[in-house]
Amino acid sequence: MIHIKNNEQMAMMLKAGRITGEAILKAREHIKEGVSTKEIDNIIHDYIIRCGATPTFLGYGGFPGSACISLNDEIIHGIPKKDRILQEGDIVKIDTGACYRGFNGDSANTFGVGKISAEAQALIDVTKESFFRGIEFAKSGNRIGDIGFAICDYASSRGYGVVRQYVGHGVGAELHEDPEVPNFGTPHRGQRLYTNMTLAIEPMINIGTYDVKVLRDNWTVVTADGSLSAHYEHSVAITDGEPILLTKVE
Ligand code: MG
Ligand code: MG
Repeated sequence: MIHIKNNEQMAMMLKAGRITGEAILKAREHIKEGVSTKEIDNIIHDYIIRCGATPTFLGYGGFPGSACISLNDEIIHGIPKKDRILQEGDIVKIDTGACYRGFNGDSANTFGVGKISAEAQALIDVTKESFFRGIEFAKSGNRIGDIGFAICDYASSRGYGVVRQYVGHGVGAELHEDPEVPNFGTPHRGQRLYTNMTLAIEPMINIGTYDVKVLRDNWTVVTADGSLSAHYEHSVAITDGEPILLTKVE
């Protein structure tokens, strides 16, 4: 079922989105060699609580953190840990959400720890740019396939693997709502977009193939070939013009 938000609900989405985006910025300030992924998670947790919201991810499906923190070949759903220490040259994906008065934000970004390789930086840049190529089509009257096609076309034509097994989604009163928003698709196909639909659009891009596997912790998703992966996500409100990036705060 597709949820179209009314104006009051959209105001909550904006607030939840802003807190989510700010939590990621706050975390970014603390990314450096020697910091544990649990410390980053604590910063996000405390920031969200201080804003009068609740961390959406904490306890979601039993997830033990307020953010998914995934390093290098880990794509998504990395569990924050005290003994997982950031090292110079790592790339770290931070994915989190805040719930404000019953509505959720969902956003992710990828950051380098200290100096990173040129190929890691190129991956991060292509992943972010693929998101912006995708949202050019995120407007009322278009279809989900238009967004996915634009993302995939941009990244795959540059030789990157576009993850298929995990996809974006509607976001609102639930973290994951209909419709699914794959990072691949066929133009003019799929769910039609309407004003005040809210979607989490989130390309996950690998240097190697798009194949993934799940580690034995039953959460962490990694690239099947061990190559680096990047993730970039915003919660987006559809309008009949430019989309509103609910979680983008800078
Ligand atoms: Mg997310
Ligand atoms: Mg998401």
